[in-house]
Amino acid sequence: MFTCGLALACVSQVSAYYVFLNIIRYYPIAGLMFVFFYIWKKRSFLKYKIQEKFPQFDKVKKEMAQSFVTLLMFSSIGTGVYILNMLGVIKTQVYWDPSLHGGAAYMLLSFLLITVWHETWFYWAHRIMHHKSVYRYVHAVHHRSVNPTPVAAYNFHWLEAILEGIYVVPFLILVPMYYPVFLAHTFYAMIMNIYFHSGFELYPKGFARGKVFKWINTSTHHNMHHSKFTGNYSLYFNFWDRIMGTNFPNYEDTFDAVVNKRNNYPPQPEDTTNPLTTSGKPI
Ligand SMILES: [Zn+2]
Ligand SMILES: [Zn+2]
Repeated sequence: MFTCGLALACVSQVSAYYVFLNIIRYYPIAGLMFVFFYIWKKRSFLKYKIQEKFPQFDKVKKEMAQSFVTLLMFSSIGTGVYILNMLGVIKTQVYWDPSLHGGAAYMLLSFLLITVWHETWFYWAHRIMHHKSVYRYVHAVHHRSVNPTPVAAYNFHWLEAILEGIYVVPFLILVPMYYPVFLAHTFYAMIMNIYFHSGFELYPKGFARGKVFKWINTSTHHNMHHSKFTGNYSLYFNFWDRIMGTNFPNYEDTFDAVVNKRNNYPPQPEDTTNPLTTSGKPI
């Protein structure tokens, strides 16, 4: 795509492309979701809210501002990969001819592969960032959002932003990827991140206990990570948390309680089956 060399004008163009790409994807989508759920349709969707309380607007503004730092770091990774490619230090296997490597079937496979790789990278990087020797220096920024909103999705310390985004580099060096499929993966990653931080659960009853669906994460899963900190570390899928025994033991019960609340809203004080209301506090 970019083959204009290493002249300053060209590198600036590449850099501007990544900044533009990241910003036009994130802010309108996360912003619209925030406006929809937290302002415009707040009353209609109240029964889908995971935690009862709504965060202060000041916190939301900080989440939005910190997300900008992350978008700049993601853009720097894109520009850095371009420069290293041009210098011949690395050689990524991104391709533009859709007929290569078996066409659509390979495109689908490569999408699945990078998503599983991202899951694995995210889970272990996340576990390391929770280690007591580093947590307060880096990951604590993300955990300032105890009750996250859609714009908290990229609320990362700059170092965490690099760690979160750099998984693409080894993958693109080792595995051929059609550029539009790679873009689709990054778009999917962003949408899922926004949903997992939305503060709302839209998945249907029984999802967290389904034979197949229990392997796919819900918004409640990551919301619990933000409110309780020491479990539920995974991203799209639930296999690493299940293998390593790091799901919160009451994850499924909490998901059921969140979903059952939809049929019993506003909750009655005598509803003793709902841990969301009996504790008197949000999860
Ligand atoms: Zn965390
Ligand atoms: Zn988070």
